[in-house]
Amino acid sequence: VVADGPALARVSVSRATEQRVVPEALAAMWADRRTRVLRIDEGRAPVSRRTGRIALAAPGATGRLSPSGEGCYFLGIDERNMPFFAVDAPFEAGPTERVVTLRAVGSQLCAQDCGLFAHASALSAWHARTRFCSSCGAATSAGSGGHVRTCSGCPAQHFPRTDPAVIALVKDRRGRVLLARNAAWPQSRYSTVAGFVEPGESPEAAVAREVFEETDLMVDQIRYQGSQPWPFPSSVMLAFEARVVDTALHLDANELGEARWFSRRQLVAAVDTGAVRLPSAASVARWQVERWLGAALESNQDW
Ligand SMILES: [Zn+2]
Repeated sequence: VVADGPALARVSVSRATEQRVVPEALAAMWADRRTRVLRIDEGRAPVSRRTGRIALAAPGATGRLSPSGEGCYFLGIDERNMPFFAVDAPFEAGPTERVVTLRAVGSQLCAQDCGLFAHASALSAWHARTRFCSSCGAATSAGSGGHVRTCSGCPAQHFPRTDPAVIALVKDRRGRVLLARNAAWPQSRYSTVAGFVEPGESPEAAVAREVFEETDLMVDQIRYQGSQPWPFPSSVMLAFEARVVDTALHLDANELGEARWFSRRQLVAAVDTGAVRLPSAASVARWQVERWLGAALESNQDW
């Protein structure tokens, strides 16, 4: 069965953004005995070996007395007003827990766990890179439940940023799909063509530019398919499909080791033999390929 949308796009708890900015509200939620905390350290969180769910902790088990200050993020509330936070610090996983990354397990998590983990991963990576003000260079400090950093030297406030990236499933007139292999990747890794949107550029123009730069192919009929967060560290992946204008395939040796057209039958056979390894089930590329194929592929890889 092919998923309706990319794995990491699934909706989670309400972010309750109006509550972030009220320190008393955050403190009251921290004191609520139903509150649960996602522990995260360098993009890794503990998952229960028994249930496969994220192993959430009570606030008191995190060693923090309050949610204010560095390293604590308000993630939102569920439909029963149960609050969720993340604590960003080294933690000790319990004997029944294993420590995982979102990239590795995102497609296997339930929607709520996936959303909490994506939110916490993105904030954690952003705080780690925003210690100092990009305007004046002074130190910044966290506020609003981890959703702003305020400069100590000037009036600047810095908000978490998300960098748009495009990823394109390119088809030819025969319905085949173009998969590319980056020169830096191992032999059998293939994916759809991806790249960042540049300043002053639309996502559609970025699709056309990236495909041309990587394969010398011109595309048209560029259509939006869907999106998902990709917080490694700060992207949102915008998925498009496009149709190739001409059929000659010239490769820029610096960009791509190999790009190849695949029919559905050719791709299934190549995945079966291991000649082609596709990105992990958490990726947009995998969703695009399975959507085109009309079937889920065996998960014989996770990269
Ligand atoms: Zn400043």
